[in-house]
Amino acid sequence: MQQGTINVQSENIFPIIKKFLYSDHEIFLRELIANAVDATQKVKGIMRLGELKGELGDLTIQVKIDTDKKTLTISDKGIGMTKDEVDKYINQIAFSSAEDFLEKFKDVEDGKTIIGHFGLGFYSSFMVANKVEIFTKSYQDAPAVKWECDGSPNFTMQEIEKEERGTDIVLHIGDKENEEFLQQHRIQSLLTKYCKFLPIAIQFGDKYLSEEDKKAGKTAEPNIINNTNPAWTKSPSDLTDEDYKNFYRELYPLAGEPLFWIHLNVDYPFNLTGILYFPELKQSFETQKDKIQLYSNQVFVTDNVEEIVPEYLALLHGVIDSPDIPLNVSRSYLQSDGNVKKINSHISKKVSDKLKELFKNDRKSFEEKWESISVFVKYGMLSDEKFYDRSKDFGLLVNTADEKFTFEEYQEKVKPNQTSKDDKIVMLYTSDEEAQHAYVKAAKDHAYDVLKMDTIIDNHFVNFLESKLENVEFKRVDADTIDNLIPKDEQRESVLSEEQQDKLKALFEEQVTNKQAIIELKPLSPTDAPVTITRNEFMRRMMDMQKLGGNSFMGNMPETFNLVVNTNHPLAEKILKKKAPNRQKMAKQLFDLALLSQNMLKGESLTAFVERSIELAGE
Ligand code: ADP
Ligand code: MG
Repeated sequence: MQQGTINVQSENIFPIIKKFLYSDHEIFLRELIANAVDATQKVKGIMRLGELKGELGDLTIQVKIDTDKKTLTISDKGIGMTKDEVDKYINQIAFSSAEDFLEKFKDVEDGKTIIGHFGLGFYSSFMVANKVEIFTKSYQDAPAVKWECDGSPNFTMQEIEKEERGTDIVLHIGDKENEEFLQQHRIQSLLTKYCKFLPIAIQFGDKYLSEEDKKAGKTAEPNIINNTNPAWTKSPSDLTDEDYKNFYRELYPLAGEPLFWIHLNVDYPFNLTGILYFPELKQSFETQKDKIQLYSNQVFVTDNVEEIVPEYLALLHGVIDSPDIPLNVSRSYLQSDGNVKKINSHISKKVSDKLKELFKNDRKSFEEKWESISVFVKYGMLSDEKFYDRSKDFGLLVNTADEKFTFEEYQEKVKPNQTSKDDKIVMLYTSDEEAQHAYVKAAKDHAYDVLKMDTIIDNHFVNFLESKLENVEFKRVDADTIDNLIPKDEQRESVLSEEQQDKLKALFEEQVTNKQAIIELKPLSPTDAPVTITRNEFMRRMMDMQKLGGNSFMGNMPETFNLVVNTNHPLAEKILKKKAPNRQKMAKQLFDLALLSQNMLKGESLTAFVERSIELAGE
C-alpha cells in the first residue's frame, strides 16, 4: 500500500474548501457526475477508434445511497484510471486546480456568486464527505486501485480486485450537517436539477412500486434521471412542432403552451445551441424572468442568466448550451467577455428575425400573439438600439377598437384628420380605458382615434417613440391641448358675452380652495362635458415617472391641473342666472363632479360632495 501526502502548499486545504463553499456545497454532485460522464464518453471514443476489444456493456451511471453505512456512491463504466493516473490526476493535477481556485478567489468577498460557475472538480466532494474512496479499474490492462483520503492532506493508495471497468466514488457522509445528502428526495431533486439532460443515462435506484404491484409480480423499473437526447441537441429538421412543445413541457411542466420558438445553432465564431421559447407573457413580467437555463455540454450551470443575455431576452424561456461561455470566472468578467457579447447580439438578431418572419408570413397570427409579445418587443426596443432598428417595422400600436397598426400605418391613419399647428402628428392614447372613459368617449365623439398604452412599460415607451418618430407627439386623452387639434372649421365662438365669461371664470375661481387648479374657459360643443379636468402632458409624465420611482428633478411638486369650463354648454348660461348661494353651490357641484370623474375627490371633500348631492336631490 502506498501512502503519501497530497502535494499541497497550505497546511490543510479541506477546512477552507468546506467553509468557502458552504453555501453551495450541493454542486459536488454535479462535479462527480460530470466526471463520470466524461469518463464514459472517453471510453465510447476509444471504442470508436477500435482501441478497445469486446463489448462496452451497459454504460449507465449509478447513484446509490446506503443509509446504514452513510455513503453516497457514484459508479461509472467509463475509462477508469490506472494507479499512475490516479496519482497524476487526483493527487497532483486535480488538487492543484482546487488550490488554484482558492488562490484565485480568496479575495472575493461574496464567494457564493462564483461558486456555482466554477468546477472545483473532484475535490468538491470534501465539502460534504469526511472520507472519500475511489475504486477504479482502467480500460487498459492494469490492476485496479483503491484511493482513500479522510480530508487531511494524507491519502492511501493500494491495488485491489475489481472486475468491471470504471470508477466508483464513495463518499462517507458522517457530519450531521450534511445528512441531507443521504436523503432520497434530496439527491433525487439535485440529480433532476443538474443532470436532467446529461448525455449518458443516470440511474438512481428503482422507480417506486406499490405493494399491490409487487404482489402482482411486477418488477420495479430503473429510475432514470435524464433525457440523454434533449431536443436542442437535435437537428431542427428532425423535430416536429409537437416535439418542441413536448420539450417545453419537459422544461416547465406547469407552464402553458409556448407561442413559438427559435432553435439556435451556431458553430462560428463560438459554439452555441439551444431553443428559446416565447411564453405567453403576462402583465407582471417580473415573475417570468429567470426561466432560461444555461448548460455547458448538457450539464446544467445556472438559471440565472442575467449577465449572459440582455434583460429583455431573459423574458424568454428555454435552454442555451454553450461550452464557450466561460463559466469558471466571475460574473462581472462575463459582462465584458467578448464571446458573451457576441452571443448576446446573435440571439437578439435571431429573435428579431423570427418575429419579422412571423409578421411577414402570417400577420393575422402575429397580431393575435401581439398582446403577449408586445411587452417583450417594447422592452427590447427600449433597451437595445439595434433591436429597435430591426423591429420598428413590425412593432404594433393597438387602438381602443383593438385594431393593430405598424408605426407607419398609424401615422398614415391619423394624419388626414389633424391640423396641428407645428405639423406634428398627434397620437392620442389612454393609459387606463376605464378610468379615462369620459375622455376616450369625448375624443371619439370628435372622430379621433385613441391608442391603448396601458402596460407598465408604456409610460417609457411613449417617451421613447417620440424620440424615435421625429414628427410624432403623444398625448394622453386628458391632456390640456387636445382641443387644439379640432379642425379650424369646427372651432366655435363662445355664446357667452365677454362680461358673462369673466363672471363665470371668477365664479369657478372662487371654488378653488387649496387645489392647484387653473380655470380655463373654452367654447366647445354644447354636447361636450360642461366641466372637465385636463393636465399638462409633459408635467403629468414627469409626475408619473416620479411615482414609478425614477429619480426626478421635480422634487415634491404638488399636482396641478386645469379645470376646463365649456362656455357653450347650456349649464354655463343657467348657472349665471342663479343667485347666491345657489350659484356657488352649483359651481362647486360641477367642479366636484369633474374631480370625481378623475378619481380626485377624496376625504372631507368627498363627504361634503355627497351631502351636497343629497341636499340638491331634495330641492
Ligand atoms: P476536471 O474534470 O476539470 O479535469 P476534476 O477534479 O473533476 O477536474 O477531475 C480530475 C481528473 O480526474 C479528471 O480530469 C480525470 O482525469 C480524473 N477523473 C475524475 N473522475 C474520474 C472518473 N470517474 N473516471 C475517470 N477519471 C476520472
Ligand atoms: Mg471534473
